[in-house]
Amino acid sequence: MSIIVQKFGGTSVASAQKIVAAAERAVAAKRDGHQVVVVVSARGKKTDELVGLAAEITDRPQPREMDMLLATGEQESVALFAMAVQKLGEPAISMTGGQIGVVTEASHTKARIRSISTIRLKQHLDAGKIVIACGFQGVDEEGNITTLGRGGSDTTATALAAALTADECQIYTDVDGVYTTDPRIVPAARLVPRISYDEMLEMASLGAGVMHSRSVEFAKKFQVPLRVKPSFSHAAGTLIAPEGDDPGRVVTGLALVRNEARVSLCEIPDRPGVMSQIFASMAAHKIPVDMVVQNVAARGSAEVSFSVPEADLAETLTAAAAAVQELGSGEVRSGTNVSKVSVVGAGMRTHTGVAAQMFQSLAEAAVNLEMITTSEIKISVLVAREKCDAALKAVHRGFNLDADTGVAPGVGVRHPVAERPAVGDDELLKEVVSRLTHMEDIVVSEVQLDESQSRVTIENLPDKPGVCAHLFGAVAEGDVMVDMIVQNVSHTGRAQVSFTVPRDELQPCLLLVREVISAWEGAELSFETEIAKLTVQGIGLRTHTGVGDRMFRALAEEDINVQMINTSEIRISVVVAADRGVAAHGCLVKTFGLG
Ligand code: ASP
Ligand code: MG
Repeated sequence: MSIIVQKFGGTSVASAQKIVAAAERAVAAKRDGHQVVVVVSARGKKTDELVGLAAEITDRPQPREMDMLLATGEQESVALFAMAVQKLGEPAISMTGGQIGVVTEASHTKARIRSISTIRLKQHLDAGKIVIACGFQGVDEEGNITTLGRGGSDTTATALAAALTADECQIYTDVDGVYTTDPRIVPAARLVPRISYDEMLEMASLGAGVMHSRSVEFAKKFQVPLRVKPSFSHAAGTLIAPEGDDPGRVVTGLALVRNEARVSLCEIPDRPGVMSQIFASMAAHKIPVDMVVQNVAARGSAEVSFSVPEADLAETLTAAAAAVQELGSGEVRSGTNVSKVSVVGAGMRTHTGVAAQMFQSLAEAAVNLEMITTSEIKISVLVAREKCDAALKAVHRGFNLDADTGVAPGVGVRHPVAERPAVGDDELLKEVVSRLTHMEDIVVSEVQLDESQSRVTIENLPDKPGVCAHLFGAVAEGDVMVDMIVQNVSHTGRAQVSFTVPRDELQPCLLLVREVISAWEGAELSFETEIAKLTVQGIGLRTHTGVGDRMFRALAEEDINVQMINTSEIRISVVVAADRGVAAHGCLVKTFGLG
């Protein structure tokens, strides 16, 4: 029988009336023939209220007592919810985290789930009951009540859905779903009917208001189809699911990070260990580094640029100065009033010309590109903040997102069910639960080595709008698949761009590039046929500065020089010499415990 998990957040159960409305949805799903597990958060602002009450008594409440207190919020709502379901004529049972068998580590107020037992859940479901589960809580091995950290009910819902191999995990919220971009900035933004896990993670800034990245990663690991649905209407919302084949859509959405600042470390030595030292310094100062861009070294010295939240600029400059001092050479430069505009779309994996289209739209809006970085499914540029709204609008229009022909909200959206591995139920369950054990520790999930690419670099380009549009437009016309693009900040009025292409497309690409750059005086082309590209994939790379730190330290210890870096929300990619690729892969796999 199909299982549906429904999660209702605090606002959806704030009053008796809302609880009844939510219960009606659970009942409807049951009457549609599904087994239903409901995960509920504390009502309205209850958790905040309880935190406030504790603060009135002491400014150092013991974490154990805090969890004991906060868990009552969810206990209240599950009981009320169960009563509502029963009143509507269906059998229901409310359960605490402990009663279900959600076992966590012993760290209070931010516990991670260790294992989930589904035996009792299954018994109640099979007896025809709707199970109403407390979100956000579990118990440790000693039976102490623990909580998963604020907003943790999403995690509970996703984890239960994974453990039960549910057909869908529906997250009811007070938004319609995920939009192509922020509708407050681009009124033409559209609801996205379906988005992949990675796209959702790459859209971080947009998705953040909708769902915790942690839960999306969870869902991705276990291939749980997540559906974000409005609680105030019957619209279909957005399905977050494995990548589908949607040949019509190349780009899914655009994200904007408005308040960024940029910092460059120029004239730093080009040798192994340098990036490691810089990242160690950033990590020590807890700087949430956003974009990281390093282009191929010119004339023996390297240069790396970051973007950071503007509020962290002062601290970043301190960290950068410390790094430069340690390195014995280098100069720190910075700039404010910049914003990051990103295009996200799984279609980039299979389509050429996406970067060219983005740069073209930006050129038409007379927006200069100060920094460029890409991942497989994301292209980000740093632009002047005063132009960021116009930039977002132009790119949205350029990709035809204004007139999205996708399915309109609320009508006829299919609910594709993810394919499951073909193993017996019990076995699958055991596997899921054993994976859950390490689940929340995983930051880096994969290290890839790509030895099939070449690098192309153009130096001394004019630093003005339209140059990259021209360059990548020409390359796209030749149907060359451009992968990793990097442009560092220009300090001299001349820009330097590097990108990678499949090795067998290098020659045609060089021809195209030679022709297009002949229009720009002084522009110089260079290339390297054999390179190795390493990608570390995971989540929270941006908020875990430690990942970059560990990655670059590992490479430094192997004496491997990093030639090019670029980053996104879920990936850090580097280019190293071709003959060091295998060694680099080995040491990274070891460092992140993936071997
Ligand atoms: N009630 C908890 C909180 O507000 C958990 C949740 O709402 O997800 O943080
Ligand atoms: Mg809440």
